[in-house]
Amino acid sequence: MKKINIAIDGPAGAGKSTISRKAAERLGYIYIDTGALYRTVGVSALRRKVNMESDDEIAGILPDTNVELKFIDGEQRMFLNGEDVSEEIRLPEASMAASRVSAVPAVRAFLFDLQRDIAEKNNCIMDGRDIGTVVLPNAQVKIFLTASPECRAERRYNELCEKGIQADYDQVLSDIIKRDYDDSHRKIAPLKPADDAMTIDTSGNELEQSVECVIKAIREKAELYADA
Ligand code: C5P
Repeated sequence: MKKINIAIDGPAGAGKSTISRKAAERLGYIYIDTGALYRTVGVSALRRKVNMESDDEIAGILPDTNVELKFIDGEQRMFLNGEDVSEEIRLPEASMAASRVSAVPAVRAFLFDLQRDIAEKNNCIMDGRDIGTVVLPNAQVKIFLTASPECRAERRYNELCEKGIQADYDQVLSDIIKRDYDDSHRKIAPLKPADDAMTIDTSGNELEQSVECVIKAIREKAELYADA
C-alpha cells in the first residue's frame, strides 16, 4: 500500500522540526529531518578542511563520506563514517556549512535516494527545503511553514542557549537572513513553496497553536483519521 508522505518545507527557524516531530508523534508517523543530512555532509566538509568556495572540492569528499540516519529510542541520530555526529551538526558553523554544501548538485543527488527510500517505506513527515518540490513531489500533503526573520532568529537563539551553545542574537539573525537568501536563490532546488503547498505563518504563535494548525491542515488534506 502506498505510504502517506507529508512534506513540510520552509526557512530556517520557522519551527519545522519541532512542529513536525510533535505532529508525527500524534499521527503515529515517523519524522525525518532532512536538514540533518546536509548538516552531516557540511561537518564532513569542515573536518576535511575543503575549500568551501569550490563545488568540485566539496563533491570530492562524497566517495569517502558515509552518511547514515538511524532511529535510536525513537530519535533520529546522524552518523558520519560510523561516528555519531548528532550534536556536532547543530553548531552554528555546521549550519552555514550545510547551507553551502547543499547548493552543490552532487551533494543533493548523493542524499536524494536516502530520502526517497525512507518515504517509500514509511508513513512519514519529512521536513526540509525542497521536499514538496523535488524529493516528494507526489506527497499527499505539502505545507510551507514560515515566520518573520526576527521571530525565527529569536527561536534559534533560545534553542542554542538552552543547549548551552554560546550565541549572539545579532549574529544568529544575520546568519538566518544570509541562509534564507542563499537557500532561495541557489540554482538547484531553491527554497520555495510547491504550487500545491499550503502556507502557514507561525510568527507570534505558541508552539501548540502551530502544531494544531499543521495537524488540522494534514487531516483536512489527507482525510486522515489517526487517533491524535
Ligand atoms: O533545516 P536545517 O536548518 O537543519 O538545514 C540546514 C541547511 O541544509 C539549510 O540551510 C539548507 O541549505 C539545507 N537543506 C536543503 N534541503 C533540505 C534540507 C536542508 O538544502 N531538504
